[in-house]
Amino acid sequence: MSNITYIQVLLPLRLEWEPFYALPEGVSAVEGERVAVIFAHRRYVGVVSAVGVEPPGETLAQVKTILKKEEELPLVSPEEIAFWRAISEYYLCSVGEVYKAAYPQIHVRKRKKELRIPEALPPTAPIRLSAAQQQAFDSVQKAFARNKTVLLEGVTGSGKTEIYLQLIAEALRKGRSALYLVPEIALSRQLEERVAASYPAVLCYNSALTMAKRRDVAEILCSGKPYLVLGTRSALFLPHRNLGLVIVDEEHDTSYKQDSPAPRYHARESSIMLAGIHGAQVILGSATPSLESLYNAEKGIFNRVQLKQRFHSGEDASLLVVDTVAERRKRGMEGDLSRKLLYEIQQTLEAGEQVLLLRSRRAYAPAVQCVECGTIPKCPHCNVSLSLHKDPDRLVCHYCGHTEAYTGTCPQCGGSLQALGAGTQRIEEEIKAVFPTARVARLDSDNASEEASIIKSFAQGEIDILIGTQIITKGFDFENLSLVGVIQADNILGQQDFRADERAYQLLEQFRGRSGRREKPGRFVIQTREPDHPVFARLEGEADLTPMLLVERRQFGYPPYTRLVHIVLKDENEKRLQYLAQELARAIQEAVGPVVGPYAPVVDRVAGKYIRQMRLMLPRDKTLLVRKQSLAQTVARFENERKYAGHIVIDVDPV
Ligand code: ADP
Ligand code: ZN
Repeated sequence: MSNITYIQVLLPLRLEWEPFYALPEGVSAVEGERVAVIFAHRRYVGVVSAVGVEPPGETLAQVKTILKKEEELPLVSPEEIAFWRAISEYYLCSVGEVYKAAYPQIHVRKRKKELRIPEALPPTAPIRLSAAQQQAFDSVQKAFARNKTVLLEGVTGSGKTEIYLQLIAEALRKGRSALYLVPEIALSRQLEERVAASYPAVLCYNSALTMAKRRDVAEILCSGKPYLVLGTRSALFLPHRNLGLVIVDEEHDTSYKQDSPAPRYHARESSIMLAGIHGAQVILGSATPSLESLYNAEKGIFNRVQLKQRFHSGEDASLLVVDTVAERRKRGMEGDLSRKLLYEIQQTLEAGEQVLLLRSRRAYAPAVQCVECGTIPKCPHCNVSLSLHKDPDRLVCHYCGHTEAYTGTCPQCGGSLQALGAGTQRIEEEIKAVFPTARVARLDSDNASEEASIIKSFAQGEIDILIGTQIITKGFDFENLSLVGVIQADNILGQQDFRADERAYQLLEQFRGRSGRREKPGRFVIQTREPDHPVFARLEGEADLTPMLLVERRQFGYPPYTRLVHIVLKDENEKRLQYLAQELARAIQEAVGPVVGPYAPVVDRVAGKYIRQMRLMLPRDKTLLVRKQSLAQTVARFENERKYAGHIVIDVDPV
């Protein structure tokens, strides 16, 4: 028997196992400590995941000694490691990949000054809840007492945020910490001021912070005093201590899902895992809950609490659906804008109020086409048309960023190119032409760096008309906004996805919620070629879409009745891709169950790589975990045997 102590170490890598290391003589270690080690000729800082273990005999000779202990780095708690393991198991990635996401920067310099740890408790008296709010608050408390996750469904402006603030006060009073998640950084900025009015010590956290700021937040959390974090999804991976409450606001929002890299987690489901580890309560809030959450409420897994009235007596914005095909026939259109919408804008401006216009495509035009030969210039690296941008004129690929100068002449025949359709830039141009004295601005991902200042200017009334993409539909609160308009709802409705109607409804209802948040009811104008679409009937309050959508989902075996998993393959060689995708589908079919695909997605080549996809709809029963594990193993084995690592991605619960 040797007297060497062996440990296992979690490395920030896509590695299915935790390698063994020896400790130098006289050195001890505990789980959660960080150590520097060499793995495959490279140096890493890992986390000790087991101490006093015995490496398998045949590998003993190869076990290396650690380089050193990283004693200045804080200890990783058992709760953190438990959370990483839960995420890894659910989303079929390695624990190391989660560790890497949680600790993106290993080497942080030591701080010179002591960090001041603020008191999180509220310095102001809480606002008095209305009777409806109080009732909702009591129902939430009752559900929490039974350890139920709460789905708080309340129209925009019903006072959900005030309820969250009081729940936070409760948690802090009990000496527990609180995590308040929002889907977007811009949203967290607007909320920051409001939350800080009650909790000056609120800690804001998102991926735009510098590493030093992130470390400061992490350090405050580790101090052991109750805290309040307001953040985006990555805040889940902070070193949480004694968490008592997790709030997931706008729970339906797809920004909660991380697309890439692994872990491809959804913050809503992950919050529930994290809360389970800490014994914390979870509240999910939305005006338009996801079908997944409504289903969970129906099953009694969640407790649904509703707030039906707006706090201020304002009604929902009244809806006007404009049929653009009919209007064009009647000469009721000026370019892309209907006279009906222009009239509404005019009225709003005359009343000294503000207008928000949604066009869900950025750029001047989504494509250009040759008037002579019909050619539509495409990206050389992706299977998509190039968008026309102005200032300066250029053609841009919205998938890979490829940019070309725009000469206005066809590369094929030299004929002249014409803009096809209108993006935000063109709408801005048209609006400025009709309302030359109005203060007009645009917000989309082309000027996202100015997002904070544009949102602020609009909130302060320095902009009359703001045109933007989806970003402007989210939970912002603009006091003087009374008209919201959708320029071309058709590409919001017409997506090839089983979630298209749900998404379209959520987006439009959220957008409607931006207007008329105070006493006055707002107005909502939608321009569309499909005025009879069922989503509009739902917006009119004529029909509840949910039962219909749920029936459809059940019939076709879609979530929430099943668990959806996508397997995505990418390869610059299309032939090899097609062949291996079919082989993999066969292997999965044998080991796990029926596979749909492989098929080419709508955009089947991006950044020089062809794409094939397949989907599995796994039954939500006792076999689920086993099937998922066998899927992961099958893919790992396939990657090994076919030497195809790096080409395959597993995406659990894709959105
Ligand atoms: P939601 O989060 O559901 O959109 P908010 O919490 O933002 O709703 O409330 C809408 C508006 O009503 C806000 O301006 C908020 O300050 C105000 N409000 C909500 N509840 C109260 C209350 N109990 N007392 C005073 N104002 C309130
Ligand atoms: Zn491209």
